[in-house]
Amino acid sequence: MATLKDIIHVIARPLEFASRSGGATIKDFGGFISKQVTEALGQHVRPADVEADLLHLAQLLADYERLSPDVRVQRVAEARAVMSRLEHAAEAPPPPRHRLWEYPMQYVRGVGPKKAEALARWGIRTMEDAVWTLPWRYEDRSQVRSIRTLVPGETAVVAATVEVAALKTTRYQRKKLVEVTVSDPTGSLHLIWFNQPYVADAFQVGRRVMLYGQAKPRNGRWTELQMENPLFELDAGGAVASRSLTHMGRIVPIYHGRETKTRGMVSDRFRAIMKIVIDEYADGAVDDLPQEMVRRLQLMDFNRALRHLHFPPAGANLEALDRGVTLAHRRLVFEDFLLLELALGRKREEVKREPRVLTYDLGHQLPDRLVKALPFRLTAAQSRVLGDIRRDLGGAHPMNRLVQGDVGSGKTIVALLAMLHAVGSGYQAALMAPTEILADQHYLTLRQLLEPLGISSVLLAGGRGVKNRKDALRSVAEGEARIVIGTHALIQQKVRFQHLALVVVDEQHKFGVLQRAILKEKGYDPDVLVMTATPIPRTLALTVYGDLDVSVIDAMPPGRTPIRTLLFSDGQRSRAYRVITDELTHGRQAYIVFPLVEDSEKVDLQAAITEAGRLRAVFPRWTVGLLHGRMKSPEKDAVMRDFKDGRIHILVSTTVIEVGIDVPNAGVMLIEHADRFGLAQLHQLRGRVGRGRHQSYCLLMAPARLTEEGRRRLEALVKSHDGFVIAEEDLRIRGPGEFFGTRQWGPADLRVANLIRDASILEQAREEAASLLHKDPDLARPEHVELGRALDRRWRDKLHLARVS
Ligand code: ADP
Ligand code: MG
Repeated sequence: MATLKDIIHVIARPLEFASRSGGATIKDFGGFISKQVTEALGQHVRPADVEADLLHLAQLLADYERLSPDVRVQRVAEARAVMSRLEHAAEAPPPPRHRLWEYPMQYVRGVGPKKAEALARWGIRTMEDAVWTLPWRYEDRSQVRSIRTLVPGETAVVAATVEVAALKTTRYQRKKLVEVTVSDPTGSLHLIWFNQPYVADAFQVGRRVMLYGQAKPRNGRWTELQMENPLFELDAGGAVASRSLTHMGRIVPIYHGRETKTRGMVSDRFRAIMKIVIDEYADGAVDDLPQEMVRRLQLMDFNRALRHLHFPPAGANLEALDRGVTLAHRRLVFEDFLLLELALGRKREEVKREPRVLTYDLGHQLPDRLVKALPFRLTAAQSRVLGDIRRDLGGAHPMNRLVQGDVGSGKTIVALLAMLHAVGSGYQAALMAPTEILADQHYLTLRQLLEPLGISSVLLAGGRGVKNRKDALRSVAEGEARIVIGTHALIQQKVRFQHLALVVVDEQHKFGVLQRAILKEKGYDPDVLVMTATPIPRTLALTVYGDLDVSVIDAMPPGRTPIRTLLFSDGQRSRAYRVITDELTHGRQAYIVFPLVEDSEKVDLQAAITEAGRLRAVFPRWTVGLLHGRMKSPEKDAVMRDFKDGRIHILVSTTVIEVGIDVPNAGVMLIEHADRFGLAQLHQLRGRVGRGRHQSYCLLMAPARLTEEGRRRLEALVKSHDGFVIAEEDLRIRGPGEFFGTRQWGPADLRVANLIRDASILEQAREEAASLLHKDPDLARPEHVELGRALDRRWRDKLHLARVS
C-alpha cells in the first residue's frame, strides 16, 4: 500500500517539470495525476484535510492540456502550494488514536476520585461513556450584551474588566462573601459569590472576564445591577477566545443534571468536564464504523460529530440540535442502531444454528379431536398461525416463535393446539401466565376442553395448600400431568418435568424477559411459543422481536359486535351508571376498574376498596365483588369463579384483570381515572368485554379538566378499535419506554437513538447489519475489527444473558 510519501514522490517530478518549463505540454498530465489520486484515496483512509488536498490537486490539473500556458503556470503554482502542505502532512507524526473506552474519567484534568464516583453513578465510567452522553438541549448564549442594555430579571452574557475585588466576611454567621465590580464601556456591574472564597483569587484588577448570570436590582435599586453567583470565564492572555469558551459566548450544551447540587454533579460542572474531554480527545477518538461505510452512507465523521454535538460551532441550527435531528446526531444514532441490529442478527443466527432434538408426531389425531369438539371454527388467521407452528415443530431447529394478536383474537386456542402436538407426541407442555388470576383462568378454560379428551392438566400456582402442591409436583415429575399451567415462577421453582417439550409464554409483554436460559440450565431444551397482544408496528417488531420469528393473528373471530367506547367526565358519572344498570338488567355483568400505580399503591388500593363499598349502595339490587392484587390466591379464585359463574354481577377491580381474563357475559366496563392509564393498557382492559355476541360498552371516566394531550389520547381510544392504530398513537404520545417492558433489551439500552424519531435510520442500520453479517459473520476482517469490539462492549453481556448456551 502506497504511503502518502510515495504518492507525493510520484507526483512531484512531473509537477516540478511543468513548473520549470513554464507550463510545457505534458502528455496526459491531468489523467496521470487524477489516476494517482484516485488510487491513493481508494487504498487508504487519510485525515480529512489530506484527502481534501489530494482531491484539490487532481482538480487543479485535470484539464491541464486544454489550458492556455498562462493558466497552466498559475495552476502549477497552486498545485505546488498544495503539494508542500501534503509534504508537511507526510512528515507530521500520525494523529493520536484515542481508544476512549480505555480511558477512565479520572484521566480528565480536574476529575479526582470523588467526581469520578459521582460520574460513575450516572453510568459514566470511561470517556466513551461520556462522549455518548449527549446534551438533552442547547442554549444559545453566543450574544454578548453591553451592561447598559441589561434589564433586571434577564439572564445574559457580559464581557467586562475587573475594577474592584474583595473577600469579605459577614458580621452575622461569619459567612465568606466575594464582592467584585466589573465594567464595560457602557457601565458597571456588581458581582457577589456566597461561600466560594476561592473565587476571589481569580478576579485580579484589570483582568478581562466573561460572565453569565441573571441581572438583579442591587439593594432594591433598579439603576444598579448585580449578579449573584454568576458563571464566569477568564481569559488566559488577551481577549477571551470564543473557541475556548465553555459556558457562554457560544451555543451551550445543557446536560441532564441527574444529581442534586449537594450530592453530585450539576450540568455546569459536567459541561466543564466535557469541554476538556472534547477538546483533548474527540479528535483522535477511534471511529468504530468502517470508513467505507461512513463514506458510502455519507455519514458525518465521528470526531466532527462529537465536537458538533457537545460544543456546537457558531451558527449551528439550534432547533435541529434540540430535536436531535442534525447530521451529527444521525452519525451517532446510526451506530447505536447498527450495533443493536448486529447484536440481534448474531443472536438470531445462534438460535438458528441449534439443532432440534425433539421429534413430534405431527400426524397425531389429538389436535384434530379438539378442533372437532370446539363450538366454533378456527379463523383463517388462527389456522395460518397454527401452520407456522407446525412447520417449526417439524423443522430442523428449536421453535422460537412470537404470536402477536390483538385482544380477543383467540390466541389461547392456538396455544392449546400447539400444546396438544406435544402431548400427542408423548411429551409435556407448560403454559405460563403473567398473573395468578390469569393462570387460574387458563386452567379453568383448558381443563374444560382437556377433560373430554382424557388429558390431565395441573395448575401450579403459589398459595395452594402444601399437600396439594406436593401432589401436583409429583404428577408433573412422573408425567401424569401432561399440561402444566402456572405463572412464570413455574420455570424458576423446583419443578421437575418428566419430559417437557413445549413452553408457551402468554402475554409476554407483561412477562419480562423470557428465561429460556433458565430452562436450559434446568436441562430442558424446549420449543418456545410467546403470545402477546401488544401490537408493535411492523417496522419496530423486526427489531424488538428480532430474536424471534413472528406470526400475526390479524383477524377477529366472526360475529363480534364492536365495543362502543364512551368518554365521560366526573360530573356525568350517574349517566355512566345508567348504562351499567341497563346492561345488568339485560342479564349482563360489569367490570369497574381502578388504576393502581406502584408509587401510590396504598392510596389506590384503598380507593378501590372504599369505592366497592360505595358501589354496593349505588347498585343495591346487584352483587358487587372486589378483586385486587393483595388478596390471597384462594380468595381471588373464589371471586373470579363467582364472577365467571354469574354469582357476582359487578366486579370492582384494580388492574389485575388487565390481561387475558375471559368472561363472555361481561358486557360493560367502566374505567375510573382513565387518564392515568396508558393507551395500550386501556385497549387491553377494554378487550375484556365484547367477547360475546351482544353489544358491549367501555366507559372511560376522566376528570372534567383534562390536558389537551390527555383528551387526545382518550379520544384515540374512542375512535379506534385497532390495536395497531392505538399502539402507534401511544408510541407517538408517550414514547417507547412503556412499550417494551423488560425484554432482553429496551430503549434504555440505546444511548442516543430514539426508536420513533429515528425510524428511518433504524431501517438503514438494519440493512447494513444484515449485509455486514452476510459478508463477514464474525466481523473478523481488519476493517470490521473496531466494530466487532464495539459490539462486544455494548452487547456481549446482554447477549450472553439472552443467549441460550
Ligand atoms: P386472546 O387472543 O385475547 O387471548 P382468547 O384466546 O381469550 O383471546 O379468545 C377470546 C374469545 O374468543 C374466547 O372466548 C374464545 O373462546 C373465543 N374464540 C377463539 N377463537 C374463536 C373462533 N375461531 N371463533 C369464535 N370464537 C373464538
Ligand atoms: Mg389471552
